[in-house]
Amino acid sequence: MAPPTTPPKQSPLRRLRLLLAAIVAVAVVASACSDDDTATSDPTEQGASEQATDGTSVTSTDDEGTTSVDNGLLADELAELPTTTLSDADRDALIFMREEEKLALDVYEELYDVWELRIFDNISAAEQTHTDSVATLLDRFDIHDPALDQPVGVFDDADLQALYNDLVARGSESITEALLVGALIEDLDIADLQARASNDPAIALVFSNLEKGSRNHLRAFINQLETRGETYTPSHISQADFDAIVSSEIERGHGR
Ligand code: MN
Ligand code: MN
Repeated sequence: MAPPTTPPKQSPLRRLRLLLAAIVAVAVVASACSDDDTATSDPTEQGASEQATDGTSVTSTDDEGTTSVDNGLLADELAELPTTTLSDADRDALIFMREEEKLALDVYEELYDVWELRIFDNISAAEQTHTDSVATLLDRFDIHDPALDQPVGVFDDADLQALYNDLVARGSESITEALLVGALIEDLDIADLQARASNDPAIALVFSNLEKGSRNHLRAFINQLETRGETYTPSHISQADFDAIVSSEIERGHGR
């Protein structure tokens, strides 16, 4: 005779049926819950974009500081903003920044191939979203996209082409040089975005988010350099601005 603690005998098939029933029950409860969520947020269907313009950032940032732009959310925000007539300086700024963000993407991609250091893979993926967000602005203002169909490492702007060639060569010398190149690109990016600040609200929105991304990426590269006992001296932003950035926390979502 079986001991009293033994449960009633079940066939494997019956156990499977019970398991499936339990899964279905959980799924039904879960979907009922999410229906409820939808129902409560339904009255304000434009909630997402309202929330966005109320200060939810169009960027997301991971623990290491990798900061990506959500270009879907950005498009929603841009749709709410008035269009202005751009100055020639604004047009030039967009054309240039589209390629400078692509330079960051392409250099990091190349340096990841050389060193297989994860930071270059993660941040190059983020830079793809940055250059895409400038492409969104080029489209908004009907400006020709200089990076359209350009392969990795090819640029319209001669200065950016020379810079790309130089930075890939330097970054291929050692891991330290590669990380210094990363810091230099972010240093330059912050300075170039600041120098091209615009009164147009769409450009201001995108550039402020790209600049935040660059501050976070600068923190990430400096953190890696410090771990290796290396220091970086800024070439483009001031030492005071650099110190203020790297001594402060990674900037997360909200606020710009
Ligand atoms: Mn960037
Ligand atoms: Mn960056």
